Amino acid sequence: MKFEYSSFFSILKDNLKINLDQTKVCSQDEYSFITHAHSDHVCNTSQKTFATKETIDLLNGRLIKNKFDFHELRFNQKIELSNNFFLTPLNAGHILGSSMFLFEDENTSLLYTGDLNTETSLLLKGAKPINADILVIDSTFGREEFSFPKRSITYDLLYHTLKKELSENKFIVLAGYTLGKNQELISFLNKYLDVVPLVDKETHKYSEIYNKNNSNLKFKLLDHNIHSSDVLIMPLSLINHNLIKSLEQQIYKKISSYVFTGWKYSRGSTLVPLSDHCDFESSLDFVNKVNPKQVYTIHGFTKDFSEQIKLKLGINASCVSTLNKKL
Ligand SMILES: [Zn+2]
Ligand SMILES: [Zn+2]
Repeated sequence: MKFEYSSFFSILKDNLKINLDQTKVCSQDEYSFITHAHSDHVCNTSQKTFATKETIDLLNGRLIKNKFDFHELRFNQKIELSNNFFLTPLNAGHILGSSMFLFEDENTSLLYTGDLNTETSLLLKGAKPINADILVIDSTFGREEFSFPKRSITYDLLYHTLKKELSENKFIVLAGYTLGKNQELISFLNKYLDVVPLVDKETHKYSEIYNKNNSNLKFKLLDHNIHSSDVLIMPLSLINHNLIKSLEQQIYKKISSYVFTGWKYSRGSTLVPLSDHCDFESSLDFVNKVNPKQVYTIHGFTKDFSEQIKLKLGINASCVSTLNKKL
């Protein structure tokens, strides 16, 4: 098994070229393996594309023209890609359908995480480390400054705060990424507060696909019905001070707004650190448990994270995004 990196990671074996989370169109005879449906991991292509059933559902829900030639993968089901070259998709804990890929041939094993979350949420089980010789890992929050509280603590705090605010007749606006985070927020409101929130169109579309895959979320599409719930869930990209002000004038209620992200920006609302990625310590712990001989860091703080892996774990690590050549 050989590999290379030029804007995305590829594995070369026999006559196969397998592109992981490719973001630009490649030639017809190459295979594309998509870890999950976030748009920064996918490009519109007509070539052979492998992904889990849930990821395919999400991609089909998004694309206007379906140009994919999809091949469905199942979690934990090992397939033979060529003679003695195997692939096993494993839960990555990031969003619905998100998968790590374990490649194995007669000489070596390689685990590619894609976007990774090891913490179990209301909707998804956390990713479990598995032993591999080579680890290619997401470094989104690969700096020590990124440390998130446990989800159970966040859920608890949020429960008490929102319960109080609802009893004071306030209107609540919650904002997160429309695919992944907002479904977790719906689930939280359903389970902790028995609230059915209003949601924007995009969150609605993805939430319906979650429900097709057994998530049992309860929500209503926002459509001239702002008075039919006390909670609105919105895309993170749309929330700002002016919007909250104009909403307040429309519904004659005081609004409390919250944004949910691992990044340190609040867009004028209260920031709640809730991420679909591992924080620094959990990423490092994952590397330690995979116990690889070599780590390659991709996406995010690749350089910082590879330095820390060498320093703290004594494991060989390099950052592929700066190499840009065959490894
Ligand atoms: Zn993602
Ligand atoms: Zn990503």
